Amino acid sequence: MSGDPDSTSPIVLEPQEVPGRAAMPVEGRDGSDAVSGRDAFVAWGARSDVGLVRSHNEDSFLLRAPLFAVCDGMGGHAAGEVASSLAVDTIAAKAPAIADDTLLGAAVEAANVAIIDGAEAGVGKPGMGCTASCAVIKGNQMAVAHVGDSRIYLLRQGSLVRVTHDHSYVEELVDAGEITADEARVHPSRSIITRALGSDRDMYADHFTIEVRNGDRVILCSDGLSGMVGDHEIETLAVSSATPQAAADKLVSAALTAGGSDNVTVIVVDVLDDGQRTKRRRAFFRSLFRAILVAACLVAACTAAFAAFANGSYYLADNDGTVAIYQGVQGDLLGIPLSGVLETTTVEVDDLPQTVQQQLEEGIPFQSEEDARDAVESYRDQIDADKTRAAQTADTVTAEEGDEAETQQTDAAAGDAGQGADASASQAGGEGA
Ligand code: CA
Repeated sequence: MSGDPDSTSPIVLEPQEVPGRAAMPVEGRDGSDAVSGRDAFVAWGARSDVGLVRSHNEDSFLLRAPLFAVCDGMGGHAAGEVASSLAVDTIAAKAPAIADDTLLGAAVEAANVAIIDGAEAGVGKPGMGCTASCAVIKGNQMAVAHVGDSRIYLLRQGSLVRVTHDHSYVEELVDAGEITADEARVHPSRSIITRALGSDRDMYADHFTIEVRNGDRVILCSDGLSGMVGDHEIETLAVSSATPQAAADKLVSAALTAGGSDNVTVIVVDVLDDGQRTKRRRAFFRSLFRAILVAACLVAACTAAFAAFANGSYYLADNDGTVAIYQGVQGDLLGIPLSGVLETTTVEVDDLPQTVQQQLEEGIPFQSEEDARDAVESYRDQIDADKTRAAQTADTVTAEEGDEAETQQTDAAAGDAGQGADASASQAGGEGA
């Protein structure tokens, strides 16, 4: 997204000295363009303002999360804004979707070539150029590619750190210790840029990756902010703003309040989720899944071992009044029986001795099916033997009872004969008297 092209319309141009002046409102200003948004990982707010001196806005900016960029155009009307617009379009097309600073640097270098090619093809004006400060914020990484004197700052726990190095003459003086950063902002040669897009096909972009965390606030800006407002004030305003848009608005307002002598563009990005929480959550669920898998394997192994044991176990038990051979072990697991009838027999439980009947109630275990069958056969033999014995006993008793009855009959017959003889004798005696 680029700055509002309508912002080239003439506006108030007076530069102003502003110490102690009330902050200038930015809402609703002509030539001011604000955009905010958010996704699951970052929230952003941006504002680009033509300022109080320039007649048109040569800055362009790009908000395409996770990619953010500010390009400050130069070359005058119908040149600077064309260069910066070409740059953000090329960077948007070429930038990686991941925090790879090498690829991001290559995108900036492609934008450089696009501007040179464009100028040669009659797009914009010869000599047009721009800066480029880009960031891809993905997870806990921020890839940065940078050329020129636009800037990227990182605000962490209330402290502001500039992460880019200006490619400018005054920055070299600051590096050499000849002037201070505050002196650089008002130095007469402050607009001399030592590296920019649009002039040298071999130009290269600074690029690097830094770590970001939840709660970090990233600020990308053109020198319309950093040239007007000191780092300490930028830090104070950024810390005191609740939202990225509020921070962008306050910073632009501060630049205008300080004079607004240049176009000013500010993008503020808050890191909401650096992915570490998600990573930890995923790691937790991975561990949990592994633990469940191990537990399931253990249960499966135990079940298999138990099944093997149960399949090799046999016992005899009462099955509705007859002895049956069971495979498995007696009882159940969570309602699932651990054994089943392998074979029924005709051996009646009631025919067995009382002690065996009691054992059958609990089940009589055997090491093998053959042992169980042998036991059944022995019961059958025992029952047969008992029955034979009982039958023999019954025969003996019957025979004895028969003999006794016969004896009694013989005795009775003998008694009857005696009585007849006595009667005959008596009769004969009577007759003799
Ligand atoms: Ca500028």
